[in-house]
Amino acid sequence: MGTDIVTNHSDMAPDRTPLVNTNRYLKRKVNEQVNYYYVKYDYPGLVWRNAVIFAVLHALYLYGFYLSLFSETWSCWLFVYTYAVFGGLGITAGAHRLWSHKSYKARLPLRVFLMLCNCIAGQNDLIEWCRDHRLHHKASETDADPHNSNRGWFFAHIGWLLQRKHPKVLEMGKKLDLSDLYADPVLRFQKSLYWPLALWFGLILPVSVCHLYFGESLWDSLCIGVWRYVTSLHCTWFVNSAAHIWGTQDYDTNIEPRESGLVSLGALGEGFHNYHHTFPYDYSTSEHGGYINFTTMFIDFMKFVGLAHSLRSVNQEMIERRRARTGMVVDKGNLAADRYVNEKEDKPDEVFTRPSSSVCNRRLSRKRALDINDNTLDGLYGKEFQPIDLENDQQRLTETKEVVKYLL
Ligand SMILES: [Zn+2]
Ligand SMILES: [Zn+2]
Repeated sequence: MGTDIVTNHSDMAPDRTPLVNTNRYLKRKVNEQVNYYYVKYDYPGLVWRNAVIFAVLHALYLYGFYLSLFSETWSCWLFVYTYAVFGGLGITAGAHRLWSHKSYKARLPLRVFLMLCNCIAGQNDLIEWCRDHRLHHKASETDADPHNSNRGWFFAHIGWLLQRKHPKVLEMGKKLDLSDLYADPVLRFQKSLYWPLALWFGLILPVSVCHLYFGESLWDSLCIGVWRYVTSLHCTWFVNSAAHIWGTQDYDTNIEPRESGLVSLGALGEGFHNYHHTFPYDYSTSEHGGYINFTTMFIDFMKFVGLAHSLRSVNQEMIERRRARTGMVVDKGNLAADRYVNEKEDKPDEVFTRPSSSVCNRRLSRKRALDINDNTLDGLYGKEFQPIDLENDQQRLTETKEVVKYLL
């Protein structure tokens, strides 16, 4: 198996991108293998209760999905969708940006509203959610990360809820300071009455509305309710799984989280995850607002009506500096630019086509951030370009091969 991993990727050696990623790929594979043996022999810990609950929920979800496509009335569909967005805001604007990261402040009516929205989402009480999330940021991609993406996509997505917590998660979780959360009476109230509140707002109320006002049968209303719930769960989980594995690392290549516009669409703006892990205190969790970051629009509107204040953000200069210092250098555009430089170095007398203007602009913006004075493209490349260190990459690959062999 080790040979497979290596031969599949070693023929990509001449290209810089796959080589850089090969090491990440191998690291993930090694972790997945370690996880496999760990789970199989040392740490079985499957939580059967959760496994059965999720199996039943997904069975009902499939029927609810069918109903949503073929038999649900438009008015009911509109209600369910709007209700799901409210539930989503309870997670994104409430649990995540307000309480986990304190990226803005909210007055009491907004806090109560977001707490109730959070009950619709049914993802544990706010204090527990924030504890897990703070731990996720503090110990990303380690054993203490509740949904450590190095243990594979499935684990980061739903597996972490089907398995007993890693001892490190329990240990580190107890050390977190949650005093600010316990100091908020809204959160204490929700924690003390979580189950009645979650059952009422997450199940009884939406199912009754579909049944009594939109003419759906009780059974169909229930399955439509489950469809909404499970869909919103997956939208949240994709932030932990997909947005930690697939996408670009525009701001910091030293961390795993990625930028994912697609995840953002489903998760109301939470998919710009490389940015978020780089600047966790930014209320917008990205550089982008607008339709793709609905939560930011919501918080901006709350500020406009006077219910939110002290919004924290990062200034553009700081973002550019960080992007230049640790952001992804090897992207499609820069590969073209590097190729241009290579060819120019090999045959200095020949005229080569320059890379597209967007590539040049990107390079120029990086340069500006680095405060280099020469504005010409050639000068820029001369200072920024570093030859591809194939020998060093090959060396790292050989070392990784040894580790894989040892572990498998
Ligand atoms: Zn994350
Ligand atoms: Zn976060």
